[in-house]
Amino acid sequence: MIFDDLEQNLAILDHQHLRRHRRVVDTPAGPRLTADGRPLLAFASNDYLGLANHPLIVAALGAGAQQWGAGSGASHLVGGHLRPHEQLEERIAEFVGLPRALTFSTGYMANLAVAPALVGRGDAIFADKLNHASLIDAAIASRAEHKRYAHNDVDALEKLLAVSTAKRKLILTDAVFSMDGDLAPLPQLFALAEKYDAWLVVDDAHGFGVLGDSGRGSLAHFALPASPRIVLMGTFGKAAGVAGAFVAGAARVIEWLMNSARSYIYTTAAPPAVACAVLKSIELIEAGDALRSRLRQRIEQLRVGLAPLAAAHGWRQAASPSAIQPLIVGDNKAALDLAATLEVRRLWVPAIRPPTVPLGTARLRISLSAAHSAADVDALLTALKEAA
Ligand SMILES: *Cc1c(COP(=O)(O)O)cnc(C)c1O
Repeated sequence: MIFDDLEQNLAILDHQHLRRHRRVVDTPAGPRLTADGRPLLAFASNDYLGLANHPLIVAALGAGAQQWGAGSGASHLVGGHLRPHEQLEERIAEFVGLPRALTFSTGYMANLAVAPALVGRGDAIFADKLNHASLIDAAIASRAEHKRYAHNDVDALEKLLAVSTAKRKLILTDAVFSMDGDLAPLPQLFALAEKYDAWLVVDDAHGFGVLGDSGRGSLAHFALPASPRIVLMGTFGKAAGVAGAFVAGAARVIEWLMNSARSYIYTTAAPPAVACAVLKSIELIEAGDALRSRLRQRIEQLRVGLAPLAAAHGWRQAASPSAIQPLIVGDNKAALDLAATLEVRRLWVPAIRPPTVPLGTARLRISLSAAHSAADVDALLTALKEAA
């Protein structure tokens, strides 16, 4: 029976401690929230600058809805491309320093667009082993050969590039790895892209708004040139605190995406009010040095406090300079138990398990925000000490 299979699959998930559950949050995003009726101090969001509930962005969303209505009415190419969408594209291109940009409803859809637009059968994608699931799906959808190199291993990548006979080559990487928090060696990847005439596609979901001068992202952080072979993707749902995503690059690349990317063409344009909210968010990001400096202080505070704890309890602290600070526990159940112990102390830190992370590397994914206070981080460190 078809339903028996599902029952069995779910039972297997239970047995492996891999069944997912959701919590219902009854308050706006932020460090202090109520979930399933309980007040919790949360280290569980990607709202790195604390903008998700910022009054000016909320107001821009409301005013945008008053002026432009609730829905866009159609896909971008058919008639749903409204003035705020156009303004947002122009603003983003200027902000990240690339000639042109295209916006998408989600980062997942943006990633699904890029690789299949640039490569196909007979071509090859060279992808970091720890890339986000959406990049893996994009590589599969492209039908190009999908070569995966060990995490951040530039030499391994070069070996693959050197022997490849593919017609067109594409290097695909997260800029800030979503479950490890470390950065890709973008300057070295760019040098290899130049040497082997490859595209360099960079997913800056966790760098945009946080890294680089004025939060322009990872390309700015590493001072990479605005090369036509670089294609940059970023999201508006993380540091920007709203929703949606962009792809930026050479004008021809963007023109081709607009004409070929199925996840751009065959879907209704996001509500124009969302574009209004993101425009306000970019303004706050650009002026957000104080927020970024607060975030950096929390990161430093947590890292310094975690080091002795990790050493004492056999946990592994990742070499992460970013707001994503994983504490790698290893075993799925141990990670769940640690998260549960923290929850008793009214702290919410998600346990991340395979297949989101490699087998045997289950972890607490602590994510920090400029909205956390020094006392919040202290509370987490104290609870971890007691939990261990
Ligand atoms: C979150 C994320 C995405 C997807 O972005 P959404 O806007 O949430 O769909 C893509 N890539 C990475 C690395 C991410 O962390």
